[in-house]
Amino acid sequence: MHRIVVLGAGTGGTLAANRLRRAYSEAEASITVVDQDDVHVYQPGLLFVPFKMAHPENIVRPRGRQLHRGIDYVVDSIDRVDLEERLVQLAGGRALPYDVLVVATGATLAPEETEGLTGVGWKERVFTFYDLEGAVALADALNWFNEGRLVVNVVEFPIKCPVAPLEFCFLADWFLRERGVRDDVELSYVTPLDGAFTKPVASNRLGGMLKDRGIDLVTEFNTGEVDGAGGRLVSYDEREVAFDLAVVVPVHNGGAYVNRSPGLGDALGFVLTDEHTLQSKASPHVFALGDAASVPTSKAGSVTHFEGEVLVENVRRFLAGQTLDASYDGHANCFIETGFSKAMLIDFNYDTEPLPGRFPASVGLPLMKESHLNHLGKLMFQWLYWHSLLPGRDIPGVHSAMPTSGKDRRSSPNEEVSAS
Ligand SMILES: Cc1cc2nc3c(=O)[nH]c(=O)nc-3n(C[C@H](O)[C@H](O)[C@H](O)COP(=O)(O)OP(=O)(O)OC[C@H]3O[C@@H](n4cnc5c(N)ncnc54)[C@H](O)[C@@H]3O)c2cc1C
Repeated sequence: MHRIVVLGAGTGGTLAANRLRRAYSEAEASITVVDQDDVHVYQPGLLFVPFKMAHPENIVRPRGRQLHRGIDYVVDSIDRVDLEERLVQLAGGRALPYDVLVVATGATLAPEETEGLTGVGWKERVFTFYDLEGAVALADALNWFNEGRLVVNVVEFPIKCPVAPLEFCFLADWFLRERGVRDDVELSYVTPLDGAFTKPVASNRLGGMLKDRGIDLVTEFNTGEVDGAGGRLVSYDEREVAFDLAVVVPVHNGGAYVNRSPGLGDALGFVLTDEHTLQSKASPHVFALGDAASVPTSKAGSVTHFEGEVLVENVRRFLAGQTLDASYDGHANCFIETGFSKAMLIDFNYDTEPLPGRFPASVGLPLMKESHLNHLGKLMFQWLYWHSLLPGRDIPGVHSAMPTSGKDRRSSPNEEVSAS
C-alpha cells in the first residue's frame, strides 16, 4: 500500500487529496492530510469583506468536511520534513512516514518583518485585508472613512493574487463614490513594481484604469517602515507617502517549517519545484503545488487548481515507475473586480501574456475588457470553489493547459480599452 501524506488542507491540499482519493482505492493507498486548524477560508472572498459585499461567516467552512471519505485528517502543526528518512514530524510528537509527500502549505503573511507595521496604529489606521480578522476590522474603518488620504501598499512581491490590491483600489473608488465622499478622498496605489502589474501589457491597461479613476500610482516604492503614529510610509530610499488610512499587503514567506527541513526550500521558505512536472527538486518523492511552490507564475487559486491536475497524474506516474508528464505551462486565470458590478478577466501562462479575446474559447467570457458578465463569473466562482474545485472535479471546458483558441493574437491589447 502506498503512503501519501499531504501537507496543508487549503485550496491545493484539499483538491489534490480528493483527486488522489479518486485515483486510488483505500486498499491501494492511504492518504493523510495535515493542517494546523480546521477553518478553511475562501480567500478571494476576503476582498469583498471590507466593502460589505461578503459576510465573513459565508466564506468560511470546516476543512475536514471538504475532504472525501477515506482521507485521514490530522489537525496539528508541521514541525519539519526529514527528506532522507521520508518522514514528517508534527509539533504534537507524531511522525508520518511517506512514499509520496504533497506540499501545499501556501504562503505565510509576515507583517512583523516590516518596521512599524504591527506597531502604533495597527488595526486602527493601518490594516490588511489579507486575513479574515484584518478584513473584518477594515470593513468597520472604511465605513467611517469620509475624507483624507487612503493608501493601498504592497510591501514586496511575491504575494498571493497580485491583482487583489488593484481590485481593492477599484472597489474603494466605487465604494467611496457610492457613499458620496470620493471627492474628499485622495486614493493612491503604492507598489515596488515599475508599473501597476507584473505583466507589461496588463500593467499598461491597469495603470490606465487607475488613472481614469483618479487613483495616484506610486511606483518603485520599497517600503522600509510604516509609521502609524505619523501616518507615513517610508521607503528604503527615503521617499515618503502620507496617509490617514493605510491598507497594506504584508511580506509573504513560505513555511517556517520549510526552513527547518534541510534541502526542501529556498531562503524564503518556498519549495524548490520543477515548473512543468511539479516534482520537487529536493527529492523525487516530494511534489508541491499552490503558493508554497517556487514556480514562476502567479500565486493564485486558479494556478493551484491547474497544477493539481498535472500533480496528481505525476504522483500516479511516479508510483507506477513511469516518466512524468511535463505539461504544466504556468496557466493562470484571474478575474479583476473593477467596481460598478464589472470585472476584467486575464488568462496567461509562462510564455503568453494576457491577450484580448474570449475565454475559454471564441464563445465565452471577454478577456482584457471590463464587463458585467465577468463580474457575475467572479461571484459564481465561490460556488464552483466549494462544489467543483475543492472536491477535485473538472470544470467543463477549463483545463490545466492554457486555451489558445479564443485569444486574439492580431490586435494589440493596448487598443482594447473600451468598457462593455
Ligand atoms: C485577499 C485574497 C484574494 C485572493 N483572490 C484570488 C482570486 O480572485 N483568484 C485566485 O485564483 N486566487 C486568489 N487568491 C489566492 C488564493 O486564495 C491562493 O493562491 C490559494 O488559496 C493557494 O492555495 P494553497 O493551497 O497553496 O494555500 P492555502 O489555501 O493558503 O493553504 C495552505 C494551508 O497550509 C496550512 N499550513 C501552513 N503551514 C502549516 C504548518 N506549519 N502546519 C500545518 N499546516 C500549515 C495552512 O493552515 C493552510 O490551510 C486570493 C488570496 C487572497 C489573500
